[in-house]
Amino acid sequence: MATVVSEVGLRTVNHWIGGAAVASKSGRCGTVWNPATGEAGANVGFADAREVDMAVERAASAFPEWRATPLSRRAETMFRLRELVDANRREIARLITLEHGKTHSDAVGEVARGLENIEFACGIPNLLKGGFSEQASRGVDVYQIRQPLGVVAGITPFNFPAMVPLWMFPNAIACGNTFILKPSEKDPSASLLLAELAQKAGVPDGVFNVVQGDRVAVDRLLQHPDVKAVSFVGSTPVAKAIYEAGTRNGKRVQALGGAKNHMVVLPDADIAMAADAAVSAAFGSSGERCMAISVVVAVSDAADPLIDAVKERMGRIRIGAGTEIESEMGPLITKEHRDRVASYLDAAKSQGAAVAVDGREHPATAGPGFFLGTSLIDRVEPGMSCYDDEIFGPVLSVMRVNTYSEALRVINDNPYANGTAIFTRDGGAARQFQFDVEVGMVGVNVPVPVPVAYYSFGGWKASLFGDLHMYGPEGVQFYTRAKVVTSRWPDPGSSSVNLGFPQVR
Ligand code: NAD
Repeated sequence: MATVVSEVGLRTVNHWIGGAAVASKSGRCGTVWNPATGEAGANVGFADAREVDMAVERAASAFPEWRATPLSRRAETMFRLRELVDANRREIARLITLEHGKTHSDAVGEVARGLENIEFACGIPNLLKGGFSEQASRGVDVYQIRQPLGVVAGITPFNFPAMVPLWMFPNAIACGNTFILKPSEKDPSASLLLAELAQKAGVPDGVFNVVQGDRVAVDRLLQHPDVKAVSFVGSTPVAKAIYEAGTRNGKRVQALGGAKNHMVVLPDADIAMAADAAVSAAFGSSGERCMAISVVVAVSDAADPLIDAVKERMGRIRIGAGTEIESEMGPLITKEHRDRVASYLDAAKSQGAAVAVDGREHPATAGPGFFLGTSLIDRVEPGMSCYDDEIFGPVLSVMRVNTYSEALRVINDNPYANGTAIFTRDGGAARQFQFDVEVGMVGVNVPVPVPVAYYSFGGWKASLFGDLHMYGPEGVQFYTRAKVVTSRWPDPGSSSVNLGFPQVR
């Protein structure tokens, strides 16, 4: 690992620049917590502008050689990276559990979903094929090619410290770009292991770099003239600010933001199955997933039996350190975040909702780790802070509505539009929902509809700023630009001056 142990026993998490671990000299750093114990686990050095510039310089100088590397060589590198990440999936998951707190099995699942993106990037020779039109005019051929942009950057959130970087960099570098990752300062170690594995896979030094840090590093990446594109995943206010700053500085930006994902349960749904899905999707990873279900919209008679079934299942969730084999739900990322999430329960009560299960009463909440039990809030309405805000914790809200149309209106009126799901046995109703709903990713009896790697991931409205979704075919489009070539090889003897506008002859 590219970390060292300090005199007081804390690891220091470094940058990875030009193929080597580089210690920050900025004098600024942050604490990486072990959320399960509440103890400091490491220090992470925060890059200043000079350190970001160093990474950009190394990435820029690696670009000409890397973009000239044959496609099949780049694909081979992706195949080797795929094998190395697969072989190290438990170690990557261990680091995720240590710093993020999610259970080991959940972390292994995260790595598996990330791995799919490397597998997609293995097909880069096929993905970059352009079009060719022979005889577009007499003796004239026209063809389109896609070329890499140069140095591109990725800024990632705490909740998927391996998967979200893997949404970005395999496609970006397979397309011929060089990459700078700025991971979340809360759980930065998985990205360094990925950098070491990329080097072992044969990714040349400077092609994949990691700069640790906070807003200072991000601001410099957004300003640096040699950074051509920025992929961002995080909360909506930051996504919006990054989109605006990046595009103002002439960069291509895709900025994925926060979410409020609704799950509609129609009266004909299988209630036991819907309850299993709601509990899994609301409380998996302690609700710290951008595709978590945070609101169940129960239509008509579905509400009471569904709430009973959900409560019964919530009572059986085993909460504990992610390293414990029997744990199903771990802690939250920091104490501040845990306390912020818990504060929504009092707010909900004072705003007229009914707190049916209060997670603060769970014994795990009293321990030193950043635990919070699962909560259920019934009779939630728009205008209450527990509905209007993205809580990003183990809190499930229930809205009761009378009809499908009301459920649809609630979802389409919400400013977020990342994911949604409908639970029903009526195929016609599900199809109508898919047609009507204004959300980027839709599940039919699937509560967390994260697209497979050969589709693309992205929400609508306040859940995504930019034009292209992330990874998959739109990822390849984002990391390349099209060039159209019009070519002819005439006999020089037939050449003449013609000031008219070129036309098909
Ligand atoms: P965050 O917005 O606080 O941080 C994301 C990244 O931006 C981090 O690397 C952080 O260091 C950096 N950052 C934070 N504040 C910044 C600022 N003012 N200026 C510049 N950079 C800044 O998000 P988080 O708390 O790490 O992650 C949780 C959020 O991410 C939730 O809102 C969740 O919904 C969202 N998320 C969205 C998706 C998606 O695909 N839409 C996926 C995962 C997470």
